[in-house]
Order: sequence, then structure tokens, then C-alpha cells
Amino acid sequence: MEFKQYEDFISKACADYTLENMNGDDNISFELLYNAIGMSGEAGEALEEMKKNIRISGVPKLYPMDLSRKDNYLEECGDVLFYMARVAHILGSSLEEIAKINQRKLVRKHDLDDELW
Ligand SMILES: [Mg+2]
Repeated sequence: MEFKQYEDFISKACADYTLENMNGDDNISFELLYNAIGMSGEAGEALEEMKKNIRISGVPKLYPMDLSRKDNYLEECGDVLFYMARVAHILGSSLEEIAKINQRKLVRKHDLDDELW
């Protein structure tokens, strides 16, 4: 699935919360804050899954992780992606733009050849 396909799906799923239906800066501010908090909260839930894996497997065996928890961890990562897509949309951006911004940052930070991608 491409980022755009996922974002289109999210837009349909959140049709009541599209920018067109948000009236005024206060509503947009609310939606931006709400989704940013959601993204942070879901990142915390993903970390919580790692904690459960540590509890089950023991600290030295964080990886390979207990495969019975893998789906839970990936589900929380998907929740982070959902809120990230919402934040990007509200800011008039996209997951693809976020990926490109991050790519440029990594190239600069690690002095990489940007033709790697
Ligand atoms: Mg979650």
C-alpha cells in the first residue's frame, strides 16, 4: 500500500473531521492538538508492548521478541501512523512529505549519498 492510498483511506474513515468541516482556527487547533496527543499516546503504547516483551523474555532477550506480542507491537505502530497521517493532513502535508523531510535530515545528519534512495 502506498502512503497516498493509506491517507485516502484515513480521510474516508475520518470524513467528519476533514479540514473542510473544521470551522475556524480554534477547531483546527483542537484537531491538531488532539491528534498530536494521540500520536504521542500511541507511541507510548508501542513502548508499553516492548516493556511487556521485556517482562516476558527478560531484559537481555529483548530481541528476538516474543512473537506472540509482535502483532500487538505492530498494531500500536499502526496507531502511531494513523495519528501521524492526521497531523500531516491538518498541517496541509502528507506522509510522503514527512518521509522526504526525514530522508533529507538523515542524508545531512549521516553525510549519506542522497542517491541511495
Ligand atoms: Mg493503540
